Amino acid sequence: MKACTVTPGKIESGTVEDVPEPPATDGDVLVEGLMVGVCGTDVEIATEGYGVPPAGRDRMTLFHESLGRVVEAPADSGLAAGDLVAGIVRRPDPVPCACCAMDQWDFCRNGQYTERGIKGMDGYGSQRWRVPPKFAVKLDPTLEDLGVLLEPTSVVAKAWDQTERIGARACYAPEKVLVTGAGPIGLLAALLGVQRGLEVHVVDRVTEGAKPQLVADLGATYHSAGVGSLGFEPDIVIEATGVGQLVIDLMQRGAPNAIVCLTGISSGHHTVSADGDAINKDLVLGNEVVFGSVNAGRQHYEQAAEALARADRSWLQRLITRRVPMADWSTALTRQPDDVKVVVDLRG
Ligand code: BGC
Repeated sequence: MKACTVTPGKIESGTVEDVPEPPATDGDVLVEGLMVGVCGTDVEIATEGYGVPPAGRDRMTLFHESLGRVVEAPADSGLAAGDLVAGIVRRPDPVPCACCAMDQWDFCRNGQYTERGIKGMDGYGSQRWRVPPKFAVKLDPTLEDLGVLLEPTSVVAKAWDQTERIGARACYAPEKVLVTGAGPIGLLAALLGVQRGLEVHVVDRVTEGAKPQLVADLGATYHSAGVGSLGFEPDIVIEATGVGQLVIDLMQRGAPNAIVCLTGISSGHHTVSADGDAINKDLVLGNEVVFGSVNAGRQHYEQAAEALARADRSWLQRLITRRVPMADWSTALTRQPDDVKVVVDLRG
């Protein structure tokens, strides 16, 4: 079968390669790969060597945002041939740590977890893949190709789930949500905020392209002037840019009891200066919480599948701004000005 393979850090090595069929040891559910989504992590793996290939190899199959159709599955797995599914990215560490032992691999404590297409395992960028039933998540069949958005939606489903758990510490009555960054993560975070009936504001730098209208069509408000001129204090912030200066700024902009969830990471190393005493004072006097959130557990994938099933299909469709055939997958990694979500079609 064919797979999109690369040596991490050597984008020029990216190719479509004939590789062996997925081994039975990968799991009892055999899936025909339909699509994969591209995210910043894939670009970092290919260009900066962020990823780790499977042990003993220098090349790996890329991509962790998957969509496929079940070819065969065990009778007791809850899955059947023809089901639309996505694969879960992370696998628990082998020790296992206290969190992985409870299947909370997204909270792995010892860093020995593996991730399909990122760390120690081949990705989903192949014509067929296998997973154990626990790591396949069924999608509403009417989503069709839009199911490729499940993995990034799982990341924001976790961010919302954690925000709400933190909110449950005391009276929790959020009204205004601020999302920073209108890429796929920010837009999907905004979608889940609107689905919760909250007043959602999205900030991004661009003034043109698809993003402002995508935000408006959600019923949310788009801002391009920066967080300093918003004119309100958010109860919840979902940060999706990973820009250090912005993160520092956001710590002092929240309403009393604000919860700031950080989901973005940056490959840069920018030194920022900040008034630590003032930030501390604001956080203490405001009961504020700033926390990070990575990856997702199985329940977050299920929450994400429900959120996508409820979402307006034409809006989701507009998130996918570019489709690239498998043969040209490496061109999907070069950002174009109007890109929101770029996908690779594994069917040709
Ligand atoms: C993926 C997560 C993963 C993280 C760190 C993100 O792009 O969506 O599943 O845990 O990268 O490797």
